Amino acid sequence: MAKSFRKLKRKAQKALKAVQNIGAGALLAAVFICIFWPAMGTGVDLPFGGPEEWLDRALDVTGLAPASGVQLPESGPFVCALDVGQGDAVLVGDSGHFALIDTGTPAAAEEMIAALDDLGVDRLEVLVLTHPHEDHIGGASRLLEEIPVEWMVLPDVDLCPELSSYTYEKLLVQANMQEIPGAVPSTGDSFALGGSTLSVVGTGLAGAKDYNQISLAVRFDGPGLSFLATGDAEEALELALVASGVSLRADVFKAGHHGSDTSNSAALLAAVLPKVVLVSCGADNDYGHPHQGPLARFGMVGAQVLRTDEQGILLVTPREDGAGLTTAVSRESEAA
Ligand SMILES: [Zn+2]
Repeated sequence: MAKSFRKLKRKAQKALKAVQNIGAGALLAAVFICIFWPAMGTGVDLPFGGPEEWLDRALDVTGLAPASGVQLPESGPFVCALDVGQGDAVLVGDSGHFALIDTGTPAAAEEMIAALDDLGVDRLEVLVLTHPHEDHIGGASRLLEEIPVEWMVLPDVDLCPELSSYTYEKLLVQANMQEIPGAVPSTGDSFALGGSTLSVVGTGLAGAKDYNQISLAVRFDGPGLSFLATGDAEEALELALVASGVSLRADVFKAGHHGSDTSNSAALLAAVLPKVVLVSCGADNDYGHPHQGPLARFGMVGAQVLRTDEQGILLVTPREDGAGLTTAVSRESEAA
């Protein structure tokens, strides 16, 4: 009940946003809120459907439902980069089974949770935290409060003994209190998600001086779709991954470190040979991500580049006829 009330509240907040932005549709949303707000969370049945149904209708009229305009396939594998500004949060799944790789910053947490809601994600079988930087684990605390997580795949912070992260330590305490199990994985560990598999292909560099270099690398393989994510792994870790001999070849690659020139080396890209690269970064971010070098290298391997800063939520699915991939985005790039 508490969760469904929160869901209703978020939908109502969206309708209120419409009040601020849109004329006639806004009025309609406001009327529905006035009528149904008192009934929310009480379990009282209202005529012609419950408050959630009515709010959905109001949001449809105002053009705000679903917020993203991106819909996950009912069956089969997909990769979906959420729009979390300067951070990473990539959802993968198959037929109602979901895993999230990283959780964005604390500032983007509410939007990330709302996006998961809109996409119909009410449970995560696996949450992968690639490394303990704020732009990857910052949204995790709120996420754990809102969405049940069955297993957490955690970075090996012992590889980086000189560093510590208060946010990460606090998160582990929270996960422990919520009795959410998890562990540092070994290369080769895998998780079934419907007819697809999420597996760990790299666990970081020993003696790393920076958390980026302990980034977990994971791949997701389903019928007609494969995906590789290396967190914020920089070149030395990328080269170690290539040298390890694990299979890195993938249809879709999440650009390393938000498209930084210190990552996305030619050697890694030659091993991955992606058809699509997803760049997760914030608009006008302070780091200048994505850098020109990686963008040129993505072009050299013939990959299509999609960017969260320009196109919002990014979705890749296999084509129904099995010949290639289909992409969808939540907003059109101004440059397009
Ligand atoms: Zn990062």
